Amino acid sequence: MSFQSLGLSKPLLDALAEKNYSEPTPIQRDAIPLVLEQRDLLGIAQTGTGKTAAFVLPSIDLLVKANVRRKPMRCRMLVLAPTRELASQIADNARTYAKYTKLNVATVFGGVPVNRNIRDVASGVDILVATPGRLLDLVDQKCLALNELEILVLDEADQMLDLGFIHALRRIVSMVPKDRQTLFFSATMPKDIRDLADKYLTHPAEVKV
Ligand code: AMP
Repeated sequence: MSFQSLGLSKPLLDALAEKNYSEPTPIQRDAIPLVLEQRDLLGIAQTGTGKTAAFVLPSIDLLVKANVRRKPMRCRMLVLAPTRELASQIADNARTYAKYTKLNVATVFGGVPVNRNIRDVASGVDILVATPGRLLDLVDQKCLALNELEILVLDEADQMLDLGFIHALRRIVSMVPKDRQTLFFSATMPKDIRDLADKYLTHPAEVKV
Protein backbone atom coordinates (compact mmCIF):
# COMPACT_ATOMS: atom_id res chain seq x y z
CA MET A 1 0.00 0.00 0.00
CA SER A 2 1.42 3.39 -1.02
CA PHE A 3 0.34 6.98 -0.49
CA GLN A 4 -0.01 7.25 -4.26
CA SER A 5 -2.62 4.48 -4.37
CA LEU A 6 -4.71 6.40 -1.83
CA GLY A 7 -5.27 9.10 -4.44
CA LEU A 8 -3.05 11.88 -3.10
CA SER A 9 -1.63 14.37 -5.59
CA LYS A 10 1.99 14.97 -6.55
CA PRO A 11 2.74 17.99 -4.34
CA LEU A 12 1.78 15.88 -1.33
CA LEU A 13 3.63 12.79 -2.53
CA ASP A 14 6.75 14.94 -2.98
CA ALA A 15 6.44 16.32 0.55
CA LEU A 16 5.90 12.80 1.91
CA ALA A 17 8.91 11.46 0.06
CA GLU A 18 11.06 14.00 1.91
CA LYS A 19 9.64 12.78 5.21
CA ASN A 20 10.77 9.25 4.33
CA TYR A 21 7.41 7.72 5.24
CA SER A 22 7.45 4.38 3.44
CA GLU A 23 3.75 3.60 3.74
CA PRO A 24 0.54 4.93 5.26
CA THR A 25 -0.40 3.95 8.80
CA PRO A 26 -3.72 2.08 9.25
CA ILE A 27 -5.70 5.22 10.05
CA GLN A 28 -4.19 7.01 7.06
CA ARG A 29 -5.03 4.06 4.80
CA ASP A 30 -8.66 4.05 5.99
CA ALA A 31 -9.31 7.78 6.41
CA ILE A 32 -7.58 9.40 3.42
CA PRO A 33 -9.83 7.95 0.66
CA LEU A 34 -12.97 8.82 2.66
CA VAL A 35 -11.89 12.41 3.23
CA LEU A 36 -10.97 12.75 -0.45
CA GLU A 37 -14.56 11.68 -1.24
CA GLN A 38 -15.63 14.63 0.93
CA ARG A 39 -17.25 12.38 3.51
CA ASP A 40 -17.66 13.50 7.10
CA LEU A 41 -15.49 11.35 9.32
CA LEU A 42 -15.57 10.05 12.88
CA GLY A 43 -12.08 8.87 13.78
CA ILE A 44 -11.42 6.97 16.96
CA ALA A 45 -7.67 7.13 17.33
CA GLN A 46 -4.95 8.09 19.77
CA THR A 47 -2.00 10.38 19.19
CA GLY A 48 0.91 8.42 17.73
CA THR A 49 -1.20 6.60 15.14
CA GLY A 50 -0.50 9.11 12.38
CA LYS A 51 -3.93 10.71 12.67
CA THR A 52 -2.65 14.24 11.96
CA ALA A 53 -1.53 13.26 8.47
CA ALA A 54 -4.75 11.24 8.08
CA PHE A 55 -6.80 14.46 8.16
CA VAL A 56 -4.27 17.04 6.97
CA LEU A 57 -3.08 15.32 3.77
CA PRO A 58 -6.47 14.77 2.08
CA SER A 59 -7.73 18.15 3.28
CA ILE A 60 -4.80 19.86 1.57
CA ASP A 61 -5.72 18.07 -1.66
CA LEU A 62 -9.35 19.18 -1.37
CA LEU A 63 -8.38 22.78 -0.65
CA VAL A 64 -6.02 22.85 -3.63
CA LYS A 65 -8.63 21.29 -5.93
CA ALA A 66 -11.42 23.63 -4.80
CA ASN A 67 -9.12 26.46 -5.87
CA VAL A 68 -10.93 29.05 -3.74
CA ARG A 69 -8.91 32.14 -2.92
CA ARG A 70 -8.42 32.86 0.78
CA LYS A 71 -10.13 36.06 1.87
CA PRO A 72 -9.05 38.64 4.45
CA MET A 73 -10.00 37.68 8.00
CA ARG A 74 -11.37 34.33 6.85
CA CYS A 75 -10.08 30.78 6.96
CA ARG A 76 -10.88 27.90 4.64
CA MET A 77 -10.04 25.07 7.01
CA LEU A 78 -10.14 25.24 10.79
CA VAL A 79 -8.51 22.65 13.03
CA LEU A 80 -9.50 22.92 16.69
CA ALA A 81 -7.18 21.35 19.24
CA PRO A 82 -7.28 21.30 23.05
CA THR A 83 -3.77 22.61 23.80
CA ARG A 84 -1.14 24.97 22.45
CA GLU A 85 1.32 22.11 22.17
CA LEU A 86 -0.99 20.05 19.99
CA ALA A 87 -2.04 23.08 17.93
CA SER A 88 1.53 24.01 17.14
CA GLN A 89 2.43 20.38 16.32
CA ILE A 90 -0.49 20.13 13.89
CA ALA A 91 0.46 23.45 12.30
CA ASP A 92 4.09 22.32 11.88
CA ASN A 93 2.88 19.13 10.21
CA ALA A 94 0.50 21.04 7.94
CA ARG A 95 3.30 23.41 6.85
CA THR A 96 5.53 20.48 6.00
CA TYR A 97 2.86 18.66 4.00
CA ALA A 98 1.71 21.84 2.20
CA LYS A 99 5.21 23.01 1.27
CA TYR A 100 4.75 22.31 -2.46
CA THR A 101 1.34 24.01 -2.60
CA LYS A 102 0.45 27.68 -2.30
CA LEU A 103 -1.64 27.11 0.83
CA ASN A 104 -0.71 29.02 3.95
CA VAL A 105 -0.97 27.84 7.52
CA ALA A 106 -1.47 29.91 10.66
CA THR A 107 -1.93 29.04 14.28
CA VAL A 108 -3.61 30.95 17.09
CA PHE A 109 -3.60 30.03 20.76
CA GLY A 110 -3.50 31.71 24.12
CA GLY A 111 -0.27 32.79 25.77
CA VAL A 112 0.95 34.84 22.83
CA PRO A 113 -0.08 38.48 22.29
CA VAL A 114 -3.47 38.57 20.59
CA ASN A 115 -2.22 41.28 18.24
CA ARG A 116 0.14 38.80 16.71
CA ASN A 117 -2.78 36.41 16.06
CA ILE A 118 -4.79 39.27 14.56
CA ARG A 119 -1.95 40.10 12.20
CA ASP A 120 -1.52 36.44 11.23
CA VAL A 121 -5.15 36.06 10.10
CA ALA A 122 -5.58 39.55 8.63
CA SER A 123 -4.87 38.65 5.02
CA GLY A 124 -6.68 35.31 5.19
CA VAL A 125 -5.65 31.76 5.99
CA ASP A 126 -6.07 28.48 4.14
CA ILE A 127 -5.41 26.26 7.16
CA LEU A 128 -5.91 27.72 10.63
CA VAL A 129 -5.04 25.64 13.68
CA ALA A 130 -6.44 27.03 16.93
CA THR A 131 -7.44 26.42 20.48
CA PRO A 132 -11.15 27.20 20.99
CA GLY A 133 -10.85 30.06 23.49
CA ARG A 134 -8.38 32.18 21.56
CA LEU A 135 -10.24 31.52 18.33
CA LEU A 136 -13.39 33.01 19.87
CA ASP A 137 -11.41 36.02 21.11
CA LEU A 138 -10.53 36.78 17.49
CA VAL A 139 -14.12 36.28 16.36
CA ASP A 140 -15.45 38.49 19.15
CA GLN A 141 -12.97 41.19 18.23
CA LYS A 142 -14.24 40.96 14.63
CA CYS A 143 -10.79 40.02 13.40
CA LEU A 144 -11.91 36.66 12.03
CA ALA A 145 -15.16 35.25 10.62
CA LEU A 146 -15.92 31.59 9.93
CA ASN A 147 -18.57 32.01 7.23
CA GLU A 148 -16.28 30.88 4.40
CA LEU A 149 -15.17 27.69 6.11
CA GLU A 150 -14.91 24.59 3.90
CA ILE A 151 -13.45 22.03 6.32
CA LEU A 152 -13.81 21.82 10.12
CA VAL A 153 -11.65 19.43 12.16
CA LEU A 154 -12.11 18.70 15.83
CA ASP A 155 -9.01 16.95 17.13
CA GLU A 156 -8.92 15.23 20.51
CA ALA A 157 -12.57 16.06 21.10
CA ASP A 158 -12.59 14.15 24.41
CA GLN A 159 -9.75 16.33 25.71
CA MET A 160 -11.53 19.49 24.59
CA LEU A 161 -14.61 18.47 26.57
CA ASP A 162 -12.49 17.58 29.61
CA LEU A 163 -10.90 21.02 29.46
CA GLY A 164 -14.31 22.69 29.51
CA PHE A 165 -14.46 23.83 25.88
CA ILE A 166 -17.99 22.60 25.21
CA HIS A 167 -19.57 26.08 25.12
CA ALA A 168 -16.78 27.39 22.95
CA LEU A 169 -17.22 24.46 20.56
CA ARG A 170 -20.97 25.03 20.37
CA ARG A 171 -20.46 28.69 19.54
CA ILE A 172 -17.84 27.96 16.93
CA VAL A 173 -19.91 25.28 15.21
CA SER A 174 -22.93 27.63 15.18
CA MET A 175 -20.91 30.09 13.07
CA VAL A 176 -19.60 27.79 10.36
CA PRO A 177 -21.50 27.01 7.15
CA LYS A 178 -23.82 24.00 7.31
CA ASP A 179 -22.45 22.52 4.11
CA ARG A 180 -18.88 22.26 5.39
CA GLN A 181 -17.05 18.94 5.67
CA THR A 182 -16.44 17.88 9.28
CA LEU A 183 -13.73 15.55 10.60
CA PHE A 184 -14.05 14.57 14.24
CA PHE A 185 -11.31 12.74 16.16
CA SER A 186 -11.32 11.39 19.67
CA ALA A 187 -9.25 8.80 21.52
CA THR A 188 -12.30 7.68 23.50
CA MET A 189 -15.97 7.63 22.65
CA PRO A 190 -18.09 7.99 25.81
CA LYS A 191 -21.74 8.96 25.39
CA ASP A 192 -21.24 12.74 25.56
CA ILE A 193 -18.64 12.61 22.78
CA ARG A 194 -20.82 10.31 20.67
CA ASP A 195 -23.74 12.75 21.09
CA LEU A 196 -21.56 15.66 20.04
CA ALA A 197 -20.33 13.75 17.00
CA ASP A 198 -23.94 12.88 16.06
CA LYS A 199 -24.80 16.55 16.18
CA TYR A 200 -21.85 17.87 14.20
CA LEU A 201 -21.39 15.16 11.56
CA THR A 202 -23.57 14.35 8.56
CA HIS A 203 -23.72 10.64 7.55
CA PRO A 204 -20.16 10.12 8.79
CA ALA A 205 -17.87 7.29 7.88
CA GLU A 206 -16.27 5.80 10.97
CA VAL A 207 -12.66 4.70 11.28
CA LYS A 208 -11.13 3.13 14.35
CA VAL A 209 -7.57 2.07 15.08
P1 AMP B 1 0.37 11.67 15.08
O1 AMP B 1 -0.41 10.47 15.54
O2 AMP B 1 -0.31 12.39 13.99
O3 AMP B 1 0.76 12.55 16.22
O4 AMP B 1 1.74 11.13 14.42
C1 AMP B 1 2.69 10.42 15.19
C2 AMP B 1 4.08 10.42 14.53
O5 AMP B 1 4.12 9.53 13.42
C3 AMP B 1 4.51 11.76 14.01
O6 AMP B 1 5.83 11.99 14.42
C4 AMP B 1 4.47 11.62 12.50
O7 AMP B 1 5.44 12.42 11.86
C5 AMP B 1 4.74 10.14 12.30
N1 AMP B 1 4.08 9.58 11.11
C6 AMP B 1 2.85 9.93 10.60
N2 AMP B 1 2.57 9.19 9.52
C7 AMP B 1 3.61 8.35 9.32
C8 AMP B 1 3.89 7.32 8.34
N3 AMP B 1 3.03 7.02 7.38
N4 AMP B 1 5.07 6.65 8.44
C9 AMP B 1 5.93 6.95 9.45
N5 AMP B 1 5.73 7.90 10.40
C10 AMP B 1 4.57 8.60 10.34
